[in-house]
Amino acid sequence: MRNIVIFDEYNEIDLKPSELFNTYLKLIEKDVFSFLVNEEILTPCLCPGCQSRGQKEAFVKLGLTYLECESCKTVYLSPRPSEAALIDYYRNSQARIFWREELSKVTASKRKEKIIKPRFDWINGATAEYFPQAKKLVDINTAHYNYIEEILGAEQFEQKILINPFLDLDSLKLSSEIKVINSKIADLYLCNEADVVCLFEVIDRASDVDLLLDKVYKMLRSGGLCFITTVLISGFDLQILWDKAENLCPPDRMNLFTVEGLKVLFERRGFECIEFSTPGVLDLAIVAKTAQQNKSVKLPRFVKYIVENRDENVKRSFQQFLQANLLSSYARILLRKKEK
Ligand SMILES: [Zn+2]
Repeated sequence: MRNIVIFDEYNEIDLKPSELFNTYLKLIEKDVFSFLVNEEILTPCLCPGCQSRGQKEAFVKLGLTYLECESCKTVYLSPRPSEAALIDYYRNSQARIFWREELSKVTASKRKEKIIKPRFDWINGATAEYFPQAKKLVDINTAHYNYIEEILGAEQFEQKILINPFLDLDSLKLSSEIKVINSKIADLYLCNEADVVCLFEVIDRASDVDLLLDKVYKMLRSGGLCFITTVLISGFDLQILWDKAENLCPPDRMNLFTVEGLKVLFERRGFECIEFSTPGVLDLAIVAKTAQQNKSVKLPRFVKYIVENRDENVKRSFQQFLQANLLSSYARILLRKKEK
């Protein structure tokens, strides 16, 4: 299995301007309460990684409870909202409208350069290597409008399909080159049609991740590829900051897998993992910044020592150690549908 280590220079602040991001966090707080913290629509679940029943409470965030699996250490929201409640939240909450109309527009050009372009370089390179005959690409739950432009430009794919119940994609007047299916995961009917499926930041927020991967499996041809990015609770910054991590908010981060939990999940769903990398570059920087801004964060003595006393070379080499050992919290994963 391949593990790619990338060291790219960018600053988190470039991607999340702090004033707008703070407004967004305040809106999430209000909307998660009004759309999702409602006992009638919350359902308990097993560990989405290894399906173990053993768990203990990890923390409560915005009124919703996260459990930690005693076996694979995955952290997950349970009880959790239904897919219908999530669709209502993603389509209609003020927080998401603000994110779509304001925050994501301000950060669009940086996001394109730092996140979306490298993502497509990865798709193009790996598809040419592992499934060069690929013609049909399916993207599930696309969150960024400027990402759609990039899909349109991916010339090696003759057919492109977007499946997304969360956004009103019809209003975008997309060209006829791209087919849009506004469907819930549970209702997906595509069978054995896709060569490549993209799940970027999707398994984090899937209310039923087994159902999602079952549908993806059925959708792919034998040997077809599934590209995934996600945030891992086994990563350094989330292990240190835990519930105080700023980017750890329900419902976007409903499933916080560990490397171990994900491997069990992929095996269970019939996928071979051909790449598992954690090329994140920001773990130590995020820990240092959060500790500086939030006095309730107490860093372990060793981490505090590195942050306060060592130079950029040591910090860079520490981050490279995290990448090389799958200990950063940002993961990119490439799966292949196994032959039966
Ligand atoms: Zn587990």
